[in-house]
Amino acid sequence: MQKKPNYIFVIGGVLSGLGKGVATSSIAKLLQSRGLVVTAMKIDPYINYDAGTMNPIEHGEVFVTKDGLETDQDLGNYERFLNVELGADNYMTQGMVWQTVIERERNLEYHGKCVQPWYHIPAEIIRRIKYLGRKSKADVVMIEVGGTIGEYENLIFLESGRRLKIELPNSVLFVMVSYLPVPSKIGEMKTKPTQTAVQMLNTAGIQPDFILTRSSKPIDAKRKEKIAFFCNVANEDIISSQDLDSIYEVPLNYLKQNLDRRILKKLKLKSRHLAMRPWLKLIEQQKNIKQRIDIALVGKYFSTGSFTLSDSYISVIEALKHAALANNVKINFTWIDSEEIEKGKLPLEKLSHYAGLVVPGGFGSRGVEGIIQAIKYARQEKIPFLGLCYGMQLATVEYARNVVGLTGANTTEVDPATKYPVIDVMLDQKIKLAESDYGGTMRLGNYRCTLKKGTLAYQAYNQPGIVERHRHRYEFNNKFRQQLEQAGLVIAGVNRQRNLVEIIELADHPFFVGVQFHPEFKSRPLSPHPLFRDFIKLAIRPNKNPA
Ligand code: GLN
Repeated sequence: MQKKPNYIFVIGGVLSGLGKGVATSSIAKLLQSRGLVVTAMKIDPYINYDAGTMNPIEHGEVFVTKDGLETDQDLGNYERFLNVELGADNYMTQGMVWQTVIERERNLEYHGKCVQPWYHIPAEIIRRIKYLGRKSKADVVMIEVGGTIGEYENLIFLESGRRLKIELPNSVLFVMVSYLPVPSKIGEMKTKPTQTAVQMLNTAGIQPDFILTRSSKPIDAKRKEKIAFFCNVANEDIISSQDLDSIYEVPLNYLKQNLDRRILKKLKLKSRHLAMRPWLKLIEQQKNIKQRIDIALVGKYFSTGSFTLSDSYISVIEALKHAALANNVKINFTWIDSEEIEKGKLPLEKLSHYAGLVVPGGFGSRGVEGIIQAIKYARQEKIPFLGLCYGMQLATVEYARNVVGLTGANTTEVDPATKYPVIDVMLDQKIKLAESDYGGTMRLGNYRCTLKKGTLAYQAYNQPGIVERHRHRYEFNNKFRQQLEQAGLVIAGVNRQRNLVEIIELADHPFFVGVQFHPEFKSRPLSPHPLFRDFIKLAIRPNKNPA
């Protein structure tokens, strides 16, 4: 018999940035650990079809699924917590929904009816949610609604949740992630904003089943009672969700408060023995790590405050943390603004302090020369280096210029007129660019790569063939391949189907690896990505590490 999926909506109250994605992932993780099949979906209420055309400063990281959709960073959290690979069906934007409905209307699929926002749009939203449940044979589908209660843009998604609950009263739950401020002058945790948020949710026809109280500290009994009383939620369904040292501790915190059992009970699902031992062991290990290493991330600086940087590169940061855990160290991260190097404000010698350098992905010409100088320093001074996508491309440019002697070599992204376009756009992409057709036109999602024996990459992966995710428009230019190889650049991985260079390395260096893909998307806490793992392993050198 076909399984009947259950649906748990996660909705944010009071303010954004509360970690709804981590809350969604953590609930999903607990239910998965109880033996259930769980999947998760992110809803973004904006009109953009996908996250691909959005500025990472505004939106955070663009997370690419294996089937090549450019989505929200929360999908990264779901994948990391659940240790699964999700696809395009796990993501929905307002733009996608409206586009489908309008296309159907044009195809006469509504048979002459007046197509109405408040009727046909929720129907399409519900269709997508149910489709995901069926397709993934899920016991539980977690649905994270982007934005905060009170915004007009997500109302139609809440309306869809309300209707689904009417249709399936015993199979739909609502979780509100809310915020309890502790104003410094008062020193007391305040519940009123949460009460108001729940009232607003009630106005949308939804009663929360659980409230997760995000705050700097745990909620006390008195405030729990208050929320329970005013929000019609049972005392035991108010779950303290205070700040913790690591996001991976969040499921454990919920577990201690029986959130998983309460959910299973409400959905009348059988409780199975919890299988979470490796995860719990990892958290224990994390707490006991003493040794720290300094890792620098070099890139152009995003000017809206340094915290946005970590959001824009969240998968890179998490992959480095997983790799550090596997090597029993912790990382002190430093962001190096490559424009500071260009201006001479940051002398290159300062880089010798770091145990390893990472150049993450990026676009455009700003700060590129500073990045190239930093790569040159890492190459010459034998500092472990990991170049991701743009990082690999700029490492190729550096090698062409300074080792092969191709003065002025560049990527055509930066200098379209360069004499030595060692990184260039592929022909099919050129046509799309000429037509200003930018959305979803990059090389996106999974591609195969064959590894060369005897390389660092082969050693790390320990297998001849791999599959990794991509998001880029430019490629290593094969016209220069022979020249670069003759000068010592090692081509450690290629995509044979399209004859594309995927990995470059240096032989006379402890660890110098550049990859055209984004390995960070596939790293998990319990199975760190092999390239990140080996990068950190080589970066742990006694003379470089602070006490
Ligand atoms: N800007 C480069 C390209 O489009 C690299 C992209 C990236 O780093 N994701 O090819």
